[in-house]
Amino acid sequence: MSGRGDDALRGQVIFRSSREVRVLSDDGRRVGCQLRGALRKRGKHNAIVVGDRVEITLEDTVEGEGAIRGCVESVEPRRNWISRKRAVGDGRELMLVANVDQVIAFFAVQKPRLKFGALDRLLVAAESRDLPATIVLNKIDLGVPEEVEERGAIYPDLGYRVLRASVTSGEGIDELREVLRGKVSVVVGPSGVGKSSLLNAICPELDLRVGAVSHHNEKGRHTTTAVSWFPVPEIEGAIVDTPGFRDYGLWGLTPRELVAAMPDLSELAGGCHFSDCRHVSEPGCEVRAAVERDEVSANRYDSYRYMLETL
Ligand code: GDP
Ligand code: ZN
Repeated sequence: MSGRGDDALRGQVIFRSSREVRVLSDDGRRVGCQLRGALRKRGKHNAIVVGDRVEITLEDTVEGEGAIRGCVESVEPRRNWISRKRAVGDGRELMLVANVDQVIAFFAVQKPRLKFGALDRLLVAAESRDLPATIVLNKIDLGVPEEVEERGAIYPDLGYRVLRASVTSGEGIDELREVLRGKVSVVVGPSGVGKSSLLNAICPELDLRVGAVSHHNEKGRHTTTAVSWFPVPEIEGAIVDTPGFRDYGLWGLTPRELVAAMPDLSELAGGCHFSDCRHVSEPGCEVRAAVERDEVSANRYDSYRYMLETL
């Protein structure tokens, strides 16, 4: 039996829906929580998000009867967070997850085809939050298409770790485990690339659903924004799974911050004639000049232009 206030527990928000928050307490209990009035009012969703460190109190429960219920009393300040635009309404900020250490971007070398634009977007999202990013190229057992080999070659030079993996052959799994060790890792990527299979291979008790077709319904809309935080004791870390990756990460970015988050372009941007150059059609643009001289990848510049339009 527990009352309020005198026996507050600390824990970690591991799931958040519009109705409920689930907390994993530091002593290992899973507690379904309501929000107290003040937290509920303050800003609907963003008042409390997955990854938040919180203080909770437990409701009186009868021993052995049903799930543990509690109440979130307060939220600790966040050291960082990742947001996206709200899918409906005015496109305001929707925080997805807080207090993370790194981003792991999962892609397949083929099946489905590697969309470098999507990869660049995820890297910008990570970089703009000062989070290190690792790129996992899965399904190398299927063979690496030439285009992937060529376009993929620049990423290590930009400072990203690129890890080749195959669930089928087992390659890269030990390496990935070491990348995840001791960290809170946000895992992102399009569906079908083998993210669930790889993570299950590393920690079978995660038991993620393999072959879940997609996170969209027939109309192509997102049906879920649910982010889940999984503690993984074997790696002394945690994995944060994130569906709906397409909209992820660029909320609130200014054009300047977008360039700053692309290491190959940002160095050049300082040399542009206009200090507020958007690197589109301005005269004296060093970024475009470098693209024309083939010193910067035209594909990366195209990714920049695309992201600029969708900020
Ligand atoms: P997720 O949507 O990214 O979580 O992908 P899943 O783990 O559900 O895998 C999608 C499909 O790809 C499944 O049919 C897997 O069996 C298959 N798959 C996953 N990893 C590999 C791999 O390394 N090689 C091959 N050939 N197929 C894989
Ligand atoms: Zn410029």
